[in-house]
Amino acid sequence: MDPGVVPGALDEPPLISADMHPPVDLAEDLERFNARLATYLKPEDITRVGAAYVFSDAAHRGQMRVSGGPYITHPLAVAETLAGWHLDAHALMAALLHDVMEDTSITKEQIAERFGKVAAELVDGVSKLDRIEHQSFEEAQAENFRKMLLAMARDVRVILIKLADRLHNMQTLDAMRPEKRRRIARETLDIYAPIANRLGLNALYRELQELAFRHAHPLRYRVLSKAVKGARGNRREVVSKILDAIRQALPAAGIDADVKGREKHLYGIYRKMRDKHLSFSQVLDIYGFRIIVKDRPTCYLALGALHALYQPVPGKFKDYIAIPKANGYQSLHTTLIGPFGTPAEIQIRDADMHHVAESGVASHWLYKDETTLDQLQKKTHKWLQSLVELQSASGDSSEFLEHVKVDLFPGEVYVFSPRGKIFALPRGSTPVDLAYAVHTDIGDRCVACRINFETMPLRTELRNGDRVEIITEPNAAPNPAWLGYVKSARARSKIRHFLNTRHAEESAALGERLLSHALRDLGLALAKLPAQAWERFKRASGARSQKAVLAEIGLGKRLPAIVARRLAEGVESTNAATEARGKQAILIHGPEGVAVKLGNCCRPIPGDPIVGLIRKGQGLVVHTHDCTAIAKLRSERGNWVDVEWEADIKGMFEASIRVIAKNVRGVLARIAAGIAEAGSNIVNISMDDDSGEATTLFFTLQVTDRIHLARILRSLRRVPEVVRITRYVDAKPRKEN
Ligand code: MN
Repeated sequence: MDPGVVPGALDEPPLISADMHPPVDLAEDLERFNARLATYLKPEDITRVGAAYVFSDAAHRGQMRVSGGPYITHPLAVAETLAGWHLDAHALMAALLHDVMEDTSITKEQIAERFGKVAAELVDGVSKLDRIEHQSFEEAQAENFRKMLLAMARDVRVILIKLADRLHNMQTLDAMRPEKRRRIARETLDIYAPIANRLGLNALYRELQELAFRHAHPLRYRVLSKAVKGARGNRREVVSKILDAIRQALPAAGIDADVKGREKHLYGIYRKMRDKHLSFSQVLDIYGFRIIVKDRPTCYLALGALHALYQPVPGKFKDYIAIPKANGYQSLHTTLIGPFGTPAEIQIRDADMHHVAESGVASHWLYKDETTLDQLQKKTHKWLQSLVELQSASGDSSEFLEHVKVDLFPGEVYVFSPRGKIFALPRGSTPVDLAYAVHTDIGDRCVACRINFETMPLRTELRNGDRVEIITEPNAAPNPAWLGYVKSARARSKIRHFLNTRHAEESAALGERLLSHALRDLGLALAKLPAQAWERFKRASGARSQKAVLAEIGLGKRLPAIVARRLAEGVESTNAATEARGKQAILIHGPEGVAVKLGNCCRPIPGDPIVGLIRKGQGLVVHTHDCTAIAKLRSERGNWVDVEWEADIKGMFEASIRVIAKNVRGVLARIAAGIAEAGSNIVNISMDDDSGEATTLFFTLQVTDRIHLARILRSLRRVPEVVRITRYVDAKPRKEN
């Protein structure tokens, strides 16, 4: 016997010989595989597939299957299934190599070098799915897990390899321990069989279900299988009677048809019994027939002929030709009342529909009449596109599916939480979106994240299958910058809600301080104000609540002096309030705050003497004592507020400086270095366009306080080219670049 991988295709002496694996003789399997390839592949493609076999066998050498025998029997079986679907040489090579990256030290690059980029990508795709498979996931989330697998696969050939892989693993499951068998069988029922169904691979779908049923419920399987065998004898007579009648009726109506009785599969019977609470005989007493005709119009003609032959059951007719199922399945379904009153379920379709009904997405390889791969890809693409249109929940199928790339859920991305929960998020989502999808509290407090165990920025775009861990801190709060990159409506609205609430709280707190100041000037205490005073004010001003009034004061929408005067009308000033009267300044806590702003004109920094000015529409703005921009407002009474820097104020403030320097090369770099040395950052630089000997530079710097600024100025004075340097405080807006 010729032990070569591909007899006649390899010129070299056979690399594989049967005696390499004494316990199992693969010669027969190889011969069968080769024969199948020869029916549709070109000789040079067969040679490449053969080379992949030799490579894979060498890579897996010494590795054994749990079921016994050398490991190579597994990839060979997977490749054989794909050859049954007439998949191209790339897919077959990838099938033979599908486990080498996971099990051996072979890399993707090595595969690409030997077998081309396409095969390497396919192997990589399958390996990625394998890794996902080993993530634990919550059982209730099978649907999302399926979507994640489909979304990750991108290329439909990856899914086909994965399904063939699962089929062979199911076929050799007997070797596993019972509980492992049950788990894998469950997973097959929940994940892989529905994917096969979704892609229209019905023959595979049924086989996976049958195998999974046997391993998940061994006892029920045995009982049912025995019962079906026992009933077969009685059925034969009825089936042949109906078959004969149909086989006469159709030609009599001028219809050429292929008519077959359908054997029900056990899992189908089991499910019908379980879901519809039927007895075994009730399920089995329904007989199935399939009629295949030459074209679509003939399907309807055949339907008419059959409805004339036997009485149809009302309400049982379904036209899946006009309205295909979501996986592309087309047929006419009807149920007839046969002899002895037995119901007969009939499926009528043409040959093309039949191919799709059995092999779905693979039918385009299997039954191609086009000669070029390009046409094949176009056809497959069209088919997938129609699937997307049928299945798309998001309604967005505009994204072009290139060639055989499959992307059934273009709008979504699927990621794992550390506990194995799967989240479906809009494509382009970030860890912040995930954090809000988990819980509002997680979102509001998230500060960092780890993606696949690596610390990553919060703005990182998530990819299918990522494992994402959100790191929170109890006192953290949402950052307004997140609004720039979150994708989900939920995250967006939660962040907005938080910021608006905080804004209102801060404004109200400031408003309260401002109002109590203004009241104190009138000899009143805010806390001791009678309720009627507030009621009167709210009625007169149309304000919603006391808090809303305070927030409006904080935001500069109402002036505290005016509110105070209105509240004070008719209220006696008390001694207590008069005693409390005195200077008590409002403290400035830091550079950022929604209600308190630092003047853009003078840019005060801690250490500067400051004043606060309240103007309608601006709220409280802090200026330096000598700010020229506010000098002319000095006379406006009632709008001035005493403010002071808090003692241990933290944060970075912006200050501007003006530097006159000699116009020589490298001067800017030396000044920048001096600023950095003094521990500051440059926020902005601009310069006057004088091209003479000296140039004037304006810097906006980050400083902690006046002392820090002084240190920076000292550092810059040591730069030899610097002629003059001053802090720059000017009301006039400068040109910024
Ligand atoms: Mn495998």
